[in-house]
Amino acid sequence: MSKRISLLGSTGSIGRQTLDVIDACGMEVAAITANSSVDVLEEQARRYGPELAVLMDEKAAADLKVRLADTSVKVLAGMDGLMEAAALPSADTVLTAVVGMVGLRPTMAAIREGKRIALANKETLVCGGELVMEEAHDFGAEILPVDSEHSAIFQCLQSGAHDEIEEILLTASGGPFRDLTAEQITDVTVDQALAHPNWSMGKKITIDSATMINKGLEIIEACWLFQVPIEKIHVLVQPDSVIHSMVQFQDGAVIAQMGTPDMKLPIQYAMFYPKRAFLGGERLKFEQLKSIHFAKPNPALRGIELASEAFRRGGSMTTVMNAANEYAVAKFLNREIFFTDIYRWIEYAMDHHSVIQNPSLEEILKTEQETYTLLEKDRNIIK
Ligand code: NAD
Ligand code: MG
Repeated sequence: MSKRISLLGSTGSIGRQTLDVIDACGMEVAAITANSSVDVLEEQARRYGPELAVLMDEKAAADLKVRLADTSVKVLAGMDGLMEAAALPSADTVLTAVVGMVGLRPTMAAIREGKRIALANKETLVCGGELVMEEAHDFGAEILPVDSEHSAIFQCLQSGAHDEIEEILLTASGGPFRDLTAEQITDVTVDQALAHPNWSMGKKITIDSATMINKGLEIIEACWLFQVPIEKIHVLVQPDSVIHSMVQFQDGAVIAQMGTPDMKLPIQYAMFYPKRAFLGGERLKFEQLKSIHFAKPNPALRGIELASEAFRRGGSMTTVMNAANEYAVAKFLNREIFFTDIYRWIEYAMDHHSVIQNPSLEEILKTEQETYTLLEKDRNIIK
């Protein structure tokens, strides 16, 4: 039976690559969604003929509705629309590739319908990990990682049992500022931060990679997905991005997943698991590779430290860290704050929050809003 995919965030970097996989593998598209890109969503709706197309922005959605009046595509707006796309009865798999914790509610909606979730949107697990994993268990929804490292770890874990895991080696490219000192990173520019050496991705995750917040978010994502304590996760910088992550088992065996850096592999692996499908493209040529390099993460990039601290404090603190980061990254991209201010804003928000343990969905969303309000109110003090 052909798979039917509901694709949240279809106009983004992961969204478009998912459509490439869908083209190559002949799957059906049940729904597509985006923030406000009317032109691209119209084009995608005409090409893939989904049942539903959703734009978060109300005005853009009204425009799209007029444009698609000659088709049978239903058009909806806002969070209600996003939730409907996630819970669509005709879809069996929901690939969630929206950016930011806006993905939390639709992911929960998909879980409650027992869908297979192919999860690229890591912020969802960072903020709602406990809740999401519990509900996925209760509703029998499978969550399969799309993040390349987590897909790699998941593939490595096929080699042993959970209680045989000794440690998870989460690899990182190290980003563009891998070799800079604490002093040198104070005056890096937005353009320098956006120039990722190995991967072409959306802007937010590209900045997160430069600050190493991305790796911090990924540590938390791995703790929830694989149910391992944070002490068992070690970040290893592997600048060539040839090894996508590794797992060491208790007998000392280290299993690595390797390949050329191409997000289409984790995307299609999450869709077809436990099967593997053909994927064209370049293969690793080991004779040409000659060597693989490793390094420790650069401590001047404080993302791992701050995210790990938030996770250790637990409960709602990871939401504060994540929301402060989303807020600060938007300001940095807008050239309103410096690169290192991102860390200061996250620290400030974390220092002003009292943890709520086991937060409900409502408490997580409230914590997010409170974080934005605090940073908006105190932005001149923090500066
Ligand atoms: P992107 O910015 O390229 O695309 C984001 C998508 O989400 C777009 O379709 C956009 O329209 C939509 N969107 C943005 N804001 C929205 C909002 N407020 N409400 C609803 N929809 C909104 O991002 P991306 O690089 O594709 O990343 C998507 C997610 O996947 C992120 O969580 C990222 O961390 C994760 N991820 C990405 C990569 C990658 O290679 N790009 C790798 C691993 C994980
Ligand atoms: Mg990743």
